[in-house]
Amino acid sequence: MLEIDLKQLKRDKTIVREVGVEPEEFDVSQFGFCLSSPISVNLKAHHANNEELTVKGSLETLVEQECRRCLKPVETKMMTKLDLHFTSKQALQTSEKIEEELQFDWSQGELDLMGYLFQEIVLNAPTFVECDQSCRGICAGCGVNLNKLKCDCPEGATDPRWNVLLKNSNK
Ligand SMILES: [Zn+2]
Ligand SMILES: [Zn+2]
Repeated sequence: MLEIDLKQLKRDKTIVREVGVEPEEFDVSQFGFCLSSPISVNLKAHHANNEELTVKGSLETLVEQECRRCLKPVETKMMTKLDLHFTSKQALQTSEKIEEELQFDWSQGELDLMGYLFQEIVLNAPTFVECDQSCRGICAGCGVNLNKLKCDCPEGATDPRWNVLLKNSNK
């Protein structure tokens, strides 16, 4: 869990936090990767004026996902900046501002940041990885890992991209 104590923030104006959040706290399984280290979060919450506050800092973790060619697990270091601006629910009720603003509520006593961290992780995780630029992948014909073994399939025979090339060269 990672929360900002709003009473303390109102009193001190600034809160600095350095925490490690366990990867189990974020259920990212549906996004095709997992987190293989604690998420280290550095942040500075600042109570800018009466009804606004900012949370700035950074988030760092290791993302593990499969090489898109050969399916070997690959770890990538992910680092992203945090820069969030919140307006109090109380101020939004009496203003013309649209509802899409990030909100916090003084009466709740704390601001829970876990949902925002989750979003940052999902948005910044690589969409795909390759274990190596020269990864040969898996043979589409017989399924062997071509980084480790050779097979007797005609090269590219079952790769649809190869068919397109052949067609073009026959013109
Ligand atoms: Zn690979
Ligand atoms: Zn093969």
